[in-house]
Amino acid sequence: MKYSIGVDLGGTDIKAGLVSSIGDISCRVVLPTDVEVGGPKFVAARIAEAVRQVLVKAPENHRDTSEIWIGLGAPGLIIAETGVVHFSPNFPGWSDIPLVDYVNAELAKLDIPNGVAKHRSQPAHKNYKLILKCMDNDVNVMTLGELRHGAGVGYKSIVALTLGTGVGGGVVIDGHLYHGSQNTAGELGHTIVEPNGRYCGCGNQGCLEAYAGAKNIVERTEAKIGTGQRTILVKASKDGESLTPRQIAEAAQAGDQLAMEIFAETGRYIGIALTSIAHILNPQIAIIGGGIAEAGETLLFEPIRAELSKRAMDIPAQMKIVKAHLGNDAGIVGAAMLAFESQKPAL
Ligand SMILES: [Zn+2]
Repeated sequence: MKYSIGVDLGGTDIKAGLVSSIGDISCRVVLPTDVEVGGPKFVAARIAEAVRQVLVKAPENHRDTSEIWIGLGAPGLIIAETGVVHFSPNFPGWSDIPLVDYVNAELAKLDIPNGVAKHRSQPAHKNYKLILKCMDNDVNVMTLGELRHGAGVGYKSIVALTLGTGVGGGVVIDGHLYHGSQNTAGELGHTIVEPNGRYCGCGNQGCLEAYAGAKNIVERTEAKIGTGQRTILVKASKDGESLTPRQIAEAAQAGDQLAMEIFAETGRYIGIALTSIAHILNPQIAIIGGGIAEAGETLLFEPIRAELSKRAMDIPAQMKIVKAHLGNDAGIVGAAMLAFESQKPAL
């Protein structure tokens, strides 16, 4: 069995794991990114430290090799061919940062014996050759993880949506991630669902993210509570602390009308966006992940499917809509798949 290391860089944490070619994670490490402590070179050193800890922790027979390939997922606009972070909302001030080069410089400083020597005649140890060639946008990486080892197994044309603080997207066409002409393809969260609607963080009005992003779901709920509609959520809101999407989902599951309406509306907006996406790309399947997707079948997925079947032409309407399978592991698994795939010669 072959193993690679997948690294999922986030604004808060760096998650890294040793992943087999069939997608099993044999050990994992989570380190705080500590982005407030230092700049890009500091973060690169944190990534190298996460790699070091993975190798130290890994089962010996899973790291018994002289060469370890590494893949990296990072948030923001990533130039995959050159390993550059063009811009990232999670890392204010970063502009055209050659992160892959920075991480490789830090990896070169590591001194980790690989334990390959089996005979007295051999040197006591060699150091691993650590090879990082590939970085991609974190949602693209998650999409790749789901394609290879999650809900997308068996499909060649997929789209993925991640419903978290923001709404991310990834597109796979004919088995390959689609980056577009300048690496910005797949921004499915900025599909317009309401031309004169709520303002989005991107500056536009009526993007899907302005309805289905976590903060926006909470804002819409609190606005509805403000209209005086009866709900068990009023009390939580009056305490001064903001509601959470989980509280809203729990209220909806308990039969609270207002909370149910919020999720039905969220599902409807996602369904409107997916109708456009289905018409443009005709994917076989849409995979939806992230914290908000935990609201589940009845609250969220059924309204999404109802909207697609109501609006789409008959063939695009056949697109399957399913929950992501890999959860929080999708970033690590997908980044490791990037590493595996970067070892194959280009066609
Ligand atoms: Zn937007």
